[in-house]
Amino acid sequence: MLIKKDEIPSIFGRSAAAFLIFAAFAGCTAIPDLPRRHMISAANPLASEAGRKIMRQGGGAVDAAIAAQAVLTLVEPQSSGIGGGGFLLHFRQLDGLIDSYDGRETAPAAIRPDVFLTPDGKRRRFRDTSVGGAPVGVPGMLRMLALAHREHGKLPWNRLFDPAIDLAENGFRVSPRLHQMIGRAKSLRGFPVARAYFFTPSGKPLPVGYLLKNPDLATTFRRIASDGAEAFYSGDIARDIAAAVQKSPQNPSNITVADIASYQPKKRASLCRPYRAWKICGMPPATSGGIATLQILGILEDFDLARTPPGSIQAVHLISEASRLAFADRGRYVGDPDFIHVPIEGLLDRVYLQSRSKRISASESMGKAAAGIPVSQQETHFADDSHDGFPSTSHLSVIDRNGNAVSMTTSIERAFGSRLMVRGFLLNNQLTDFAYMPRRDGRTVANAVAPRKRPRSSMSPTLIFDRDGKLFATLGSPGGSRIIGYVTKTVIGLLDWGLDMQAAIDLPHHTNRNGATELEKGTAITVHADALRKLGHEVRIRTLTSGLHGIRVTPHGYDGGADRRREGVALGD
Ligand code: GLU
Repeated sequence: MLIKKDEIPSIFGRSAAAFLIFAAFAGCTAIPDLPRRHMISAANPLASEAGRKIMRQGGGAVDAAIAAQAVLTLVEPQSSGIGGGGFLLHFRQLDGLIDSYDGRETAPAAIRPDVFLTPDGKRRRFRDTSVGGAPVGVPGMLRMLALAHREHGKLPWNRLFDPAIDLAENGFRVSPRLHQMIGRAKSLRGFPVARAYFFTPSGKPLPVGYLLKNPDLATTFRRIASDGAEAFYSGDIARDIAAAVQKSPQNPSNITVADIASYQPKKRASLCRPYRAWKICGMPPATSGGIATLQILGILEDFDLARTPPGSIQAVHLISEASRLAFADRGRYVGDPDFIHVPIEGLLDRVYLQSRSKRISASESMGKAAAGIPVSQQETHFADDSHDGFPSTSHLSVIDRNGNAVSMTTSIERAFGSRLMVRGFLLNNQLTDFAYMPRRDGRTVANAVAPRKRPRSSMSPTLIFDRDGKLFATLGSPGGSRIIGYVTKTVIGLLDWGLDMQAAIDLPHHTNRNGATELEKGTAITVHADALRKLGHEVRIRTLTSGLHGIRVTPHGYDGGADRRREGVALGD
């Protein structure tokens, strides 16, 4: 049933052939007039416009990303912002340098390992722990952006906040998605500052089209623009953050100004591995995203995906099984590398991945996969139970006029984060990405809570290069731990199935996080539900709200794509 290299079973031959004819035909249609100078794809048109404006003024990819992030803090406040963290990959065209910046939030020094446990040692419910002070991590976004700007910025830092300050002062229109998300975030009303900002005086979610101004955020941005990121990490902004967490109406906690002042972003060694004729680069831990996407692709290299049609049952089965194996390893081995040994080389070792690949059967699902034993493994950490929240987070991709690229995924975790709002921005609830149960079978788990530790993420900013080392694409997505599936499938769409960026993003989603195989509701892929069940999959059909934003480099210019499941747009010149 599965297509190993060099074999096409006749039963699938016809659909494979039909797809290839379709793909060839699609490839032969008129060459579109694509932007050639620069491009940005982000989750909100105002953010993409800000990034493009900065590039029109001579800004580089990092400058555009900073301007877009500032605007996202304002117009997509539920997803990301300066009160959160993220991961940024940067490619420098001049010499091929790839830098990885880790701006993940950290736990405060005073955090206790049992923060998410009841007095009798059971895990507390997610909804009881995910709002208020306790889940707030020390925000990493601004110091990470400042570090990237020092190394790769072209325009002065203070100019990058102009578009966001202008919009915050003069107002922006509440989008359908923001309106809908306010309506869904029930507990938002329990936080007075957020309630006053996001609801009408009569308590209704702000309507679509409402002109929303945020003078507090404009003032915050003016300070950050003139005094640098440091204005956020010391002085009265830091004091207000600490006070909001300590005096939270729910789950008050103990972030101090010292925690905030001592936050450090990290530059880490990028994870780059070959995949067929390409090289894929991802972000190393503290996110699990880079390792997991590279593992899934490495496991799939033994199968001829190019001749396995997208959306076919064999593609869903195969990618699901590879994903199970990667998630089993993720659960056991991946956490903050400053605290535990993560056997990165072993997990991505070619021979190890081939041995994992052999566990995939054509005729039945393996069910729940067990973690493997990678070659360089030194210490065993046990599987954990961390939670992933409902759709928030944001991804933006940029390529500037020099061919430099950014792939940045940015998050305040769950929609509207902790609900605590300070000086016009929301604080994250990222610490809920830690394992709630710190120990299992007498051993500390990889992703256990610890002071100053980074909770494990799934964010997967990705860069793809061709066989000559030329940039081929930049992409990524929000979606909690489903990010890994969204990104991997899009990479396969681009590389194995030869799709353009938008078509790869549009492909119906299917994900497997070492449990149920999830099929995207309302798409053609759901026809496989029964057949997959026959193969032993537990199948769930559900809404899968990715937010993929990517740019592909073609000989004709930049081919941008923005996820129709959200509100973004790719803009270029
Ligand atoms: N907190 C999640 C992570 O770091 C992202 C949440 C989301 O994408 O909704 O992986």
